[in-house]
Amino acid sequence: MLLTRLATQHSVGFVLAAVFICLAAGWLLADLSARVAEASGVVRRRWQLGVAVVAGLGVWTTHFVAMLGYRPDMLLSYEIWTTAASALLAIALTGGPLALSAGARDWRARALWGGLAGAGIAAMHYSGMQALEGCLQVRAPGVSLVAGLIGVLSLAGARGAPRLARSRLATCLLFTFAVGGMHFLAIGGTELVVQEGADIAGDNKIVLSVFTSAGAAILFLGAFATILTARRFEAQEKAHSAVLSTALENMSNGLVYLDQWGRVQLYNRRYLEIYGFEIGLSLKGMTAHEIVEAVGDRHDWSAERREKARGRLLEWESVDSFSTIDYEMDDGRIMQVEIRPVSRGGMVVTFDDVTGERQAQRRIEELAFLDPLTKLPNRRALNARIERDYHPRQWFKLLLIDLDRFKPVNDTYGHGVGDLLLIQVAARLSEIVGPEGFVARLGGDELAILIQGDLDKAKAVAEQVIEVLAFPFQIGELTITIGCSIGLCCTDDARDATELMQFADIALYESKRNGRGRLSCYTTGMMEAMSERVQIEADMRLAIERGEMHLAYQPVLALSENRVIGYEALIRWDHPLLGPVSPSRFIPLAEETGQILAIGAWVLREACRQVAALPDEAYVAVNVSAVQFRSPLLLSHLTTALATSGLPPHRLEIELTETAIVEDGRKIVEILSAIRQLGVSIAMDDFGTGYSSLSHLRDFPLDRIKIDRSFVATAEEDRHSRVVIEGITQIAHQLGIAILAEGVETPSQLDFLRSIGCEAVQGYLIGRPVRMLETESALALSA
Ligand code: C2E
Ligand code: CA
Ligand code: CA
Repeated sequence: MLLTRLATQHSVGFVLAAVFICLAAGWLLADLSARVAEASGVVRRRWQLGVAVVAGLGVWTTHFVAMLGYRPDMLLSYEIWTTAASALLAIALTGGPLALSAGARDWRARALWGGLAGAGIAAMHYSGMQALEGCLQVRAPGVSLVAGLIGVLSLAGARGAPRLARSRLATCLLFTFAVGGMHFLAIGGTELVVQEGADIAGDNKIVLSVFTSAGAAILFLGAFATILTARRFEAQEKAHSAVLSTALENMSNGLVYLDQWGRVQLYNRRYLEIYGFEIGLSLKGMTAHEIVEAVGDRHDWSAERREKARGRLLEWESVDSFSTIDYEMDDGRIMQVEIRPVSRGGMVVTFDDVTGERQAQRRIEELAFLDPLTKLPNRRALNARIERDYHPRQWFKLLLIDLDRFKPVNDTYGHGVGDLLLIQVAARLSEIVGPEGFVARLGGDELAILIQGDLDKAKAVAEQVIEVLAFPFQIGELTITIGCSIGLCCTDDARDATELMQFADIALYESKRNGRGRLSCYTTGMMEAMSERVQIEADMRLAIERGEMHLAYQPVLALSENRVIGYEALIRWDHPLLGPVSPSRFIPLAEETGQILAIGAWVLREACRQVAALPDEAYVAVNVSAVQFRSPLLLSHLTTALATSGLPPHRLEIELTETAIVEDGRKIVEILSAIRQLGVSIAMDDFGTGYSSLSHLRDFPLDRIKIDRSFVATAEEDRHSRVVIEGITQIAHQLGIAILAEGVETPSQLDFLRSIGCEAVQGYLIGRPVRMLETESALALSA
């Protein structure tokens, strides 16, 4: 009904012209809107103005051209000023909002402005209708409302929905639909009633024709101008983009530009290469997510792999300032990805293949943290690992392992064999700790293991290491047996990584001191003992010079004559801070550091000098340690001491322990003989505590045997001790060697020794070691 009414009330020519004008305006609107979205600043505002004028005039011209064809049966006339004003209204209320919506980024804002423009069409329509003179307009309110809604909804949709907003055709058609639909529906719902006697100027219709033709002319001129300018721009842009694309295609980096809707606008050949797309493929308009899926299809990605890629893409998309990310691709290539958000939305992403650089860098880092020989982590790696595990603090144990007898292997068979041995050691340790464990080589023959777990587990691993490394190694033809000492420290005992290392080292030192091939756990106090040792070692160097050392003499009593026949010289040290330090404490340290040579030489000189001053024929016994005995300097020290003191050699005796003389029998005999050639006698000290080999008594040229005081101390209650003392005494007699018992403290011990024929004794019962005072010296002692 509505349609037939519309058809009868309109002349077709004008309606078609109106629709054509509206389509033209719509197309221009779409074109200009796209330019608004791409431009910025002043240029953007100019395009917006174009949108406002073209859309406004388009609506207005459409309306009045359609009106020219309306009711050809009636002579309609229009009030000129209202008609003109409605043109301005169209520009302001429809053109304006459309211009703003073209510039808005958010879809809601665009839809809102579009809706307002739709309402503007209705406003223009009814204000234009106000210009109609000489008749009454009767409207059906329902139809007017629906007509208004058509305008509002079409333009809100055209601008709000991203897909529609991007399409020129959709914009053009929806605009035409909004304007035409609104107009014809509103007209259809309007009844014109002729007012008799109204004053109608007959030429008004001509005026309207002029107006509308002017409107149409402006519109087309505008369109023409716009297209011309656009062409010029496009030509420029083409030239520009030719340069740009040459630059892009020849870039060594991959590049992709995504617009504010996340769609690819620009990319280069290198980008395609990186993702393995064929070169001709067009990605334009694809979203980043679609590209990820395409890459996934190409490489047969699992659902999990795709999920990972999507997650990464979301991360990249959320970047809101320039960022650089290193990204490792599935085939191992490493891309440096730079993401640069663009001010009007979207981003430019570049891909730089840095695989070579990163690999070199990684290799350098690896080398810095790797022992090149065993391929185990090195000291630096161990330190880094300990540091890392200390923050936040985790509980673990550090085992420091030192190979025993490694140096002789190196010295005897050469470094080549030493290296092969180390490689095998590393392999055995790695096998013990398994793939999760951490073994490091700290350098030389020092290794370390980190153990997560309790002390029992750490101890078990340590025991296993000791056992496994004690097992012989096969290197070519050679079978080599080494061993190891281990120091263990728990994180509970150390405050930081440095202390952990230091304490484990102290424990290791303790293991070595206690005879190697064993495990020592760090205990509180070890550190103090160690630092005291270090202090003693340091102070010992200057102790003699500073006069802190002196000798004490303990008398030797000959039982047959009941007379003191000699003295054992025993060194004493009065430390300025620690007080008297026992020789049992500092002599072993002096032996370790080699200082015993200087000290021993001094003892010899001092003992000879002091005893030479004695009036009687008493001899002096001087203790000579194994280190001294092995030194080629011993003979010269002896001769110097004798020569400078003037003591006759037969009044000097040196005391050696069995350990000092076990090594190379023939050589020892030579040295002992050389000493005896000087006229100096030799005593075997502490007999019974070491090897206690009777063959030593037979093979070595000895003058005296000193039975260790432990036998004397237990002689009364222990039959075994008595048997040993008696036996040694008898053998010594048979071999013609003098016998002396040490540590006699009670008269009954003395009686026993006398009863079995022991020749001489020494001990607190006879006399404690005392200092020989220079002035009253000799007499006091020999009294
Ligand atoms: P040693 O050679 O066995 O010396 C005897 C030790 O027994 C001395 O201890 C002495 O004081 C102690 N002694 C003597 N009679 C008795 C006794 O009746 N009962 C008990 N319980 N002990 C007795 P000191 O002076 O502490 O010397 C300890 C060790 O230090 C010596 O053992 C010796 O091996 C070493 N030493 C001492 N002076 C020197 C030295 O000048 N050079 C070297 N190389 N070693 C020395
Ligand atoms: Ca002694
Ligand atoms: Ca002794």
